[in-house]
Amino acid sequence: MPAAPRLTRRRSDRTRVVRAGDACFGDGGFALIGGPCSVESRDQLLVVAGAVERAGGVMLRGGAWKPRTSPYDFQGLGDLAIELLVEAGRRSRLPIVVEALAERHVAMLVANVAMIQIGARNMHNVPLLQSAARSGLPILLKRGPSATLDELLLAAEYVLLEGNDRIVLCERGIRSFDAATRNVLDLGGALRLKEMTDLPVIVDPSHASGRRSLIEPLTLAAAAAGLDGAMVEVHPKPEEALSDAAQAIDCATFLRIARAVSAIRSSLLDPPRFAIA
Ligand code: PEP
Ligand code: MN
Repeated sequence: MPAAPRLTRRRSDRTRVVRAGDACFGDGGFALIGGPCSVESRDQLLVVAGAVERAGGVMLRGGAWKPRTSPYDFQGLGDLAIELLVEAGRRSRLPIVVEALAERHVAMLVANVAMIQIGARNMHNVPLLQSAARSGLPILLKRGPSATLDELLLAAEYVLLEGNDRIVLCERGIRSFDAATRNVLDLGGALRLKEMTDLPVIVDPSHASGRRSLIEPLTLAAAAAGLDGAMVEVHPKPEEALSDAAQAIDCATFLRIARAVSAIRSSLLDPPRFAIA
């Protein structure tokens, strides 16, 4: 058994507020991040960025270097994607979040984005966590598909130990025996996480379910449950996406989700509070 988490333990009923550019996580709102799985072209990205901005999304996501399971699948546009993201961010006035797969990427991201994502496959990559932490940028830390909540918190503590306390945790689905959905969105686990830590917790219903029909209801469930936000994959023509096409939603659906989230959150009688467990 590894030593238990220390620095991430919840100490009050308030969630720690984490800012990334103008985006805010943990302030009682439900922060929606939208954008394509992979940046594919300037047109694709500008259309999605405009839609995310109009819907009131707080950040634009977009994969530049893709951690694909198969080496024969689209690997992302790489550095060119960063140029396109910077332009799309400037036009839409949205801060950008991009996944770093290697320390070289961290160096490239520091100058260009508002938040660094550490993906599910890299949650246990300590040198990468440390180098992303030392960038000083906020970190979006995704839970590994087979990681326990304690392991996720311990990964966050590698970031905290570098002096960076700007961390948002993301539940993105865990492995199960049933292939009917790509993974299982562990909503109960995400809520338990909120009892264990005061770091903001968001969900990624796209990688969790792998199916576009489930993105809207899962996002709304997370909003109703009192979590801090969601990151969703959006594409102008979802069926044509070069990666994760089956889980991409179109721009109109993103807008509908944003409206429904806002209705749900304003109908909650009390702002969600998570007590020290
Ligand atoms: C992603 O968000 O682009 C991604 C690859 O997700 P995950 O690391 O959760 O698989
Ligand atoms: Mn994806």
